[in-house]
Amino acid sequence: MALSHVTKVYPGGVRALDDVSLAVPRGTFLAVMGPSGSGKSTLMHCAAGLDTPTSGSAVIDGTDIGSLNETRRTQLRRQRIGFVFQSYNLVGSLSIMDNITLPLRLAGVAPDQAWLRTLVERVGLTGRLGRRPAELSGGQQQRVAIARALVTRPAVVFADEPTGALDLRTAREVLDLLRALVDGLGQTVVMVTHDAAAAARADLALLMTDGRIVDTLVTPTADVLAQRVTTLETE
Ligand code: ADP
Ligand code: MG
Repeated sequence: MALSHVTKVYPGGVRALDDVSLAVPRGTFLAVMGPSGSGKSTLMHCAAGLDTPTSGSAVIDGTDIGSLNETRRTQLRRQRIGFVFQSYNLVGSLSIMDNITLPLRLAGVAPDQAWLRTLVERVGLTGRLGRRPAELSGGQQQRVAIARALVTRPAVVFADEPTGALDLRTAREVLDLLRALVDGLGQTVVMVTHDAAAAARADLALLMTDGRIVDTLVTPTADVLAQRVTTLETE
């Protein structure tokens, strides 16, 4: 996953991203931090083809997203990218199994049963597949969302504040899971977070301010991250 000189100016003139370049090697867990309004979500949306940069390019899996027409871009998004949101975004009327396999149905791809079993086991949902989302705890629902994000074997999973709605212990479990997916499957994960302890689980942390990457920390610690973010917020 890579961004090359990406600038995003919203109608009205807000420069949400200002010449951002970034290359994330496969199998990397990347955390993106920064004050509210610094461009974290916009970075994620441009990298995932949910939004179009004003200039510059975003590459997933060797494909320049900007070179694709709308149909191909949707196809790339559905098959090569997974999304996890703070609010889980599960479909309440569908079973856990049907939630997990929804991206396959949207993409018109048959489930790989062996992969599905592995995934369900890895996220710890064996025995709960017939339930409805409302019957599960927040942490379990987020694990369903993570399984759903992974079901197509995407090149990158983007997670925007995936632990934002969870208590500390459950948040740690979800982070353990993301970490294990990176370590065990070589999954590339890009996670936006406000939480220094969450970002400390990543291999690499970017700090953003005013649409720019102002710092890159390798195997960051929570203390250093918290300190840097506090400095950025008061600068
Ligand atoms: P973060 O996720 O770090 O809080 P965002 O990427 O959401 O930041 O926003 C970056 C800047 O772009 C902010 O000033 C925000 O108000 C602005 N912005 C985000 N989305 C839009 C939009 N759809 N239209 C106009 N301005 C936007
Ligand atoms: Mg945001």
